[in-house]
Amino acid sequence: MDTLEPGDPTTLAEDLASRFAAEHGRQATGVFTAPGRVNLIGEHVDYNGGLCLPMALPHATYAAVAPRDDDTVTVSSRQEDDGFSGRLGDLGPDTITGWPSYAAGVVWAMREAGWQLPGMDVMIDSRVPLGAGLSSSAALECAVALGAAALAEVDLDDEVRSGLVRACMRAESEVAGAPTGGLDQTIALFGQAEAALLLDCRDWSTRQVPWDPASADLALLVVDTRASHSLSDGGYASRRADCERAAAELGVELLRDVPAADQAGALAGLADEQVRRRVRHVFTEIDRVTEAVAQLEAGDFEALGRTFLASHASLRDDYEVSCEELDVSVDTAVGAGALGARMTGGGFGGSAIALVPTDAVDAVGGAVTAAYAERGWPAPGLLTATPGAGARRLR
Ligand code: ADP
Ligand code: MG
Repeated sequence: MDTLEPGDPTTLAEDLASRFAAEHGRQATGVFTAPGRVNLIGEHVDYNGGLCLPMALPHATYAAVAPRDDDTVTVSSRQEDDGFSGRLGDLGPDTITGWPSYAAGVVWAMREAGWQLPGMDVMIDSRVPLGAGLSSSAALECAVALGAAALAEVDLDDEVRSGLVRACMRAESEVAGAPTGGLDQTIALFGQAEAALLLDCRDWSTRQVPWDPASADLALLVVDTRASHSLSDGGYASRRADCERAAAELGVELLRDVPAADQAGALAGLADEQVRRRVRHVFTEIDRVTEAVAQLEAGDFEALGRTFLASHASLRDDYEVSCEELDVSVDTAVGAGALGARMTGGGFGGSAIALVPTDAVDAVGGAVTAAYAERGWPAPGLLTATPGAGARRLR
C-alpha cells in the first residue's frame, strides 16, 4: 500500500537549510517546524464553545528563516511556484494575496500584536498535503511564527505560544480570508508526541491525553478523499449561523452553556426541525468527546471505535456536512476490519480517519482504494498517523 510518508525531520530540515543557502547566498538562522493535525473527535463544536481532541501528525511543515537588514519580507515555498516580496510596513490584508497570506500574513499579525520583527527571508517545505483537511494552513502559519519569534529572540513559554495562536488565527481569517476557530493553530503549537490534546474551546484550556495506538497494536489510518465540495454555498456559515440563532433562542451565549439536564427540553423547544438536528449534533458530539477521553484512558479501543461511528452518523445525518466520498471511506473501512471510522475536519470532502488493527492496515487501505476505483473516483491519499510532536526549532 502506498502511503504518504512524513519523512525524517532532521533530514528535511538539513535539506531545506541547504536550499535556503543556495537561494539566498547566506545561512538560515534556523529551521522551524509545525505539524498538521487530525481531530480524533469533537467536530463543528469549536465555535460552540465545545470540546475537541486533535492530535499532531508526524507530517509537518518546515520554515527556514534568516533576517534581512532592509525591512523586506520574502517568502517562497517548494509547494508553490510563485513567491512574495514586500516591505514590512506595507504588509496587510490588502497587500498580500494567495498562499503567501498564510506566511507573510503571520508577520503582519505579529507586528500588529506588538512584536518587533526585522525584515526576513522565509523558505517553506511541507509534508502535509495541501487542502486535505489536515491543516497545512495552520502548520505553515505556525512554522513561520516560530521562525519570526526566534528572530525577535523571544523564548517560547505557554503565554507566548498562546499569543502566536492568536496571530496565526488573525493571518488566516483577516489576510487569507478563511474562517478559523483556533483548533488547528492550538494543536500545532501545543501538541506533544504520543498524546492527543483535549481542548476546551470555551476557556481555551488544554489537557494532554496519552494516546499511543501502536502500543495497543492499532494504527490510525487517514484517508484523504481528495474531494473538496465547495463551501461557497455557505455550508459552514449557515451552520454556524443556525447555532448562533439557537443559542440566542435558548438564552445562552454558546450552545455549550446549556446544562445537560436542560438539553432535552431545549431541543424540544426549538421550532425549526433542521436547527433542532444541528443543535442535537452539538450537544451529543460534546458528550462523545468526554466519552472518547474516558475510553482512551481506559484503553477501551472497541468502545472508542463505536464512538467514532456515532460521531460520523451525527455529522452525516444531523449536521449534514459529510459527502459520498467520506461515507464510502468510513463504511468501507469498517467493512474491512476497522474498529471505527469518521470524517474529520469541516467536511464536504477532506479526510476521514479509521482506527485499524495494525495487521489490517493494508487490507483497509486496499479496500478503500478499490471502492474509489469502482466508482471511477481518483485514488484516495493514505497515511498512517502516529501522534507527532508540536511546533519546535530543529536547527
Ligand atoms: P488545509 O489547511 O486543510 O490543508 P486550507 O485550505 O485551510 O486546507 O489551506 C490550504 C492552503 O494553505 C493552500 O491552498 C495554500 O494556499 C496554503 N499552504 C499550505 N501549506 C503550504 C505550503 N507548504 N506552501 C505554500 N502554501 C501552503
Ligand atoms: Mg486549513
